[in-house]
Amino acid sequence: MAMIKPHTVKRPVKRKMLLLFLLLATGIVVAGFWYYHGYRRQYRDQIEHKLEAVATLKANEISQWRRERLEDGIDLTDNPLFASLAARGWITGSDPQARGDLIRWLTTTLRDGSYDQALLVAPGGATLLSLPAGRAPLSPAVRALLPGLFAGGRPQLSDFYRSPNDHRVHLNLLAPLRDPQHRPLAAVVLRIDPSRYLYPLIQSWPTESATAETVLTERDDANAVVLNELRFKNGTALQLRLPLTQTAYPIVQAVRGTTGITQGRDYTGKRVLIFIRKIPDTPWFILSKMDFMEVYGPLTRQLWWVGTAVLLLVIGAAVGTLILWRQQQNSYELGLQLTRQENSWLLDLITRSLNEVFVFDPLTLRFTFVNRGAQRNLGYTMDELALMTAFSIKPELDEERFRHLIKPLLADQEEMLIFETVHQRKDGSRYPVEVHLQLMQSGSERHFLAVITDISERKAYQEQLEAKNAELERFTYSMSHDLKSPLVTIKTFLGYLPEDIASGDRHRLDKDMEFMRSAADRMGLLLDELLELSRIGRVMQDSVVTPHDQLVQMALQMVAGRMEGMAVEFDLQPQTLALYGDRTRLVEIWQNLIENAVKYRGAADPLQIGIGLEQTGGETIFFVRDNGIGIDPRHRHKIFNLFDKLDPKSEGTGIGLALVKRIVELYQGRIWVESEGVGRGSCFRFTLPGALQKD
Ligand code: ADP
Repeated sequence: MAMIKPHTVKRPVKRKMLLLFLLLATGIVVAGFWYYHGYRRQYRDQIEHKLEAVATLKANEISQWRRERLEDGIDLTDNPLFASLAARGWITGSDPQARGDLIRWLTTTLRDGSYDQALLVAPGGATLLSLPAGRAPLSPAVRALLPGLFAGGRPQLSDFYRSPNDHRVHLNLLAPLRDPQHRPLAAVVLRIDPSRYLYPLIQSWPTESATAETVLTERDDANAVVLNELRFKNGTALQLRLPLTQTAYPIVQAVRGTTGITQGRDYTGKRVLIFIRKIPDTPWFILSKMDFMEVYGPLTRQLWWVGTAVLLLVIGAAVGTLILWRQQQNSYELGLQLTRQENSWLLDLITRSLNEVFVFDPLTLRFTFVNRGAQRNLGYTMDELALMTAFSIKPELDEERFRHLIKPLLADQEEMLIFETVHQRKDGSRYPVEVHLQLMQSGSERHFLAVITDISERKAYQEQLEAKNAELERFTYSMSHDLKSPLVTIKTFLGYLPEDIASGDRHRLDKDMEFMRSAADRMGLLLDELLELSRIGRVMQDSVVTPHDQLVQMALQMVAGRMEGMAVEFDLQPQTLALYGDRTRLVEIWQNLIENAVKYRGAADPLQIGIGLEQTGGETIFFVRDNGIGIDPRHRHKIFNLFDKLDPKSEGTGIGLALVKRIVELYQGRIWVESEGVGRGSCFRFTLPGALQKD
């Protein structure tokens, strides 16, 4: 059988915890991302600045170097002495002195180290002098520059070219020489080996770097060509050329006009970050570049760190949330436990209540809960009750009537129904009950709760009250009747008095007055006894201990007058028992019973009266027995009623036994009469438990 649902405590919601964790985790990841993003931006800015700084430095150095070379040329071109030495030694004559001076001059120039060869060439291209001697003739590329050189009249720096003689890359400084009339005389060609100074200048990187390098490039028809030897590849100068269509390559991008920061894929196939700068007054571009690997290497490490930190923080958040969840779960469990205890305590009370408590379903009317009081009262087992309905234990109500009865509760018209009905036990016996019925809402469910009180006792009191009321009614009736009859007697004989006086019949007058007197006496007696009856229980003397035998003796003395001259045999067995109570009242019990035994003596002679007590079933039962007229068993109960007399003509008032009964009941006792029938004597028996307490 289902139990009443316990009150619930609030359960920590898993979803809320998950949400909290997700919020925390998202916050951590976003913060991690922003941190990394900022760091990356800053880091890359640094690298870009470095690349730019290197490219600018190299461009400046190259410009500077170039300027210095041109100045070397100017020193020759603008020197009339040098031109005159050349003219005298080779053009206009062959003055050995002039030749020697010029050779010395050029040798000094070569010694400086910037140039590895010096040529003196005629405007037509013929080599006049070669220093050191025996070196290769003028290469066609240089020769082609001569006409322009003489036309311009200013020194020129040739581009990089590969010499067909030694297959090496060179540059040439060309310085035109003119006669005083400005006619072309000759040209000095100073060959530069870039690997001596220029390439190392380009290649050197100001800081420690594994992949950084600088590249000098220029456009050559439809190609971009590398002009220097590279850090990681030899023989690239003028060899490594890439078509302009391959824009992924940095050198292609450079010659196509891109400047500043860009990125691409270099000759090794690796992704690179590049800064491109054009070198002024030349077709050259300088690129400073670094592998992505190197650029982002530390960033990747940083990413790992940030990732690890984020992961640890997320794990921390997860653990924190879990701890919080566990804490809440624990306090929930505790709350639940307390609530369970509370509920079980409440349930226990309900279960053990002596009242019957039922919970039943509003639809099927079947019991869902029955407490122990109900089980005990009804005598059914739990299993049996589980199959029963609220109306099946109410013999006065069938299903239809019961459903009709509970309608106001289901319609919310009434909050509680209180009604009386009858419950039937398993053994078929019935008992009156008062039902308190309520429809209770528990969560989404509704239950009927019935609390039942066994009202057998209340009903018994009610019946007693009704009996008392009936007795009172009878009493009023009897009293008016009994008091009326002496009054009627007095009134009747009072009517005879004038007649008696007129007739002077003294005897009749006395007789009639005697009738009136005895009627008045009787009325007095009735009123006295009524007064006495009303006093019982109201007017009491202090309780004292009186031996049983003494009480009987006192009673006998009170009745002695009435027994005067009568043949009476007493059977009095001496008793040791003593009674505790209002002595006068206790004496009245025996007095009235002995008086009645005398009053209702029969034909049997002598009158025998037995007085004593018996112990039966742990109970002390007193008795007063006679061999008088006896009592018809049919009237056994009636005689204890007020004014009830079996023989209306008898002298009594019908109050005596009522009075005795009242005193007996005052001491929580009972009184009854036993008689085998009319003429066969009576035995009045009574108990006085309230007077036996202190013996
Ligand atoms: P009263 O004696 O004044 O009539 P009681 O209440 O004492 O009133 O008695 C009620 C009636 O019970 C009597 O009228 C009589 O009929 C009957 N009764 C009482 N005691 C005895 C007895 N010992 N033997 C036979 N009948 C008795």
